[in-house]
Amino acid sequence: MTTEYVDVLVIGAGPSGSVAASIVKQAGYSVKMVEKMQFPRFVIGESLLPRCMEALDAAGFLPALRAQGFQEKFGAKFVKGDQVADFDFSNKFTEGWSQTWQVPRANFDQVLADEVQRMSIPLEFETEVTAIQFDGTDSTTRVTCPDGSEKEIKARFIIDASGYGRVIPRLFKLDRPSNLPGRKTMFAHFEDPNRFLFDEPNRITVIAHRPDVWVWVIPFSTGKTSVGFVANPSFFEEFEGTAEQKLRAIIQSNDYTNQRFGDSAFVFEPRTLEGWSVTTNQFFGEGFVLTGNVTEFLDPIFSSGVTLATVSGHKAATLVCRQLAGETIDWQREYVEPTQQGVNTFRSYVMGWYDGSLQDIIFAPNPDPEIKKQICSVLAGYVWDLNNPFVRQHSRVLKPLANIIRMEAEADAGR
Ligand SMILES: Cc1cc2nc3c(=O)[nH]c(=O)nc-3n(C[C@H](O)[C@H](O)[C@H](O)COP(=O)(O)OP(=O)(O)OC[C@H]3O[C@@H](n4cnc5c(N)ncnc54)[C@H](O)[C@@H]3O)c2cc1C
Repeated sequence: MTTEYVDVLVIGAGPSGSVAASIVKQAGYSVKMVEKMQFPRFVIGESLLPRCMEALDAAGFLPALRAQGFQEKFGAKFVKGDQVADFDFSNKFTEGWSQTWQVPRANFDQVLADEVQRMSIPLEFETEVTAIQFDGTDSTTRVTCPDGSEKEIKARFIIDASGYGRVIPRLFKLDRPSNLPGRKTMFAHFEDPNRFLFDEPNRITVIAHRPDVWVWVIPFSTGKTSVGFVANPSFFEEFEGTAEQKLRAIIQSNDYTNQRFGDSAFVFEPRTLEGWSVTTNQFFGEGFVLTGNVTEFLDPIFSSGVTLATVSGHKAATLVCRQLAGETIDWQREYVEPTQQGVNTFRSYVMGWYDGSLQDIIFAPNPDPEIKKQICSVLAGYVWDLNNPFVRQHSRVLKPLANIIRMEAEADAGR
């Protein structure tokens, strides 16, 4: 069996792995990426947040991404019946990017993969990690190659960015269920000739269909749009037929989606996904760190996945390089705590969405402009700005504010 040697092995060529590999290479260490699939490959996660632009910039990916002409995204619009709440990222509390993109991920991830290869980082597709053995911080990873043969890669450090593959948590039994209930989605891409009638395509629209059922509408620059319903699995049992018949009936059950997509052609047969909320007992160990979805993916409602993936990939790779240079890293304080700060802020907003408190805040008839800016920062992915009270006190602010809004609404109704 052949054996290769490298400073850092990155598992997975999603956004987290590509950002991490670029940072390691820029620091002068040898790095190699292995990716189970052949690219381009479909993956869900098409609406980015402005905060991820900082990580993509640090990785050197922005010029290549700009050249693609992806659909620019400047905000997020929430719709519930005839109520509309529009959040413009340029009107947010935290300084930083107010623009990002809406991207078909097959293309987006391919651009990042092309860029890392252009930086002379070896990236092997159809190469799957099947086993890892640690000896202190050194490791030996066994991979299966495209022709079915096996080889070993010896590394001084492993960055596991394998997304839903969860390589190290699965191999070392670190998986733990998330504290969020299991949800399901049914989605497809549609032709979208009516998009300009709906004040788009330069932002994502989130439709509150029922208290616990919502819809994403993510237009791309190709003229096609991604539409997905997210709900408890039982919601989808209310509809019958083939996947196309089911999603067509679901689309037609909501006024907004019916007007815009009721007769639109599917670009591909609808797909379903469920059970995506998983976490792990530890984010790092001797000789490895987990990044992106492997740490935890919560819920798609606030498009947080790629931002958490790229920011954690950037942070982890920076720390790996410092450790390889001889520094002692306090991984708990420097990596786990900031990563959890971001994840837990989004967790409060996800839970607030599903318990209704955040929906009452978002659709408040007369929102306080300062509070709207602070919430807009969270929606833009700036979940590490502790100067923002809606980040610093994320677990405590939403319910009391929603209660005040409800009391005001009751008082108005009684007048
Ligand atoms: C329904 C739904 C909707 C979503 N919508 C959004 C959204 O709008 N915006 C957003 O930001 N996020 C969204 N997400 C989340 C998003 O999909 C992920 O957070 C994001 O893709 C994570 O990136 P990553 O780089 O960590 O992992 P991935 O993009 O999953 O990449 C991991 C890579 O590792 C490879 N791999 C796996 N196992 C192995 C192995 N054994 N060996 C080698 N390679 C391996 C995989 O093939 C894959 O290419 C959504 C998620 C769901 C479930």
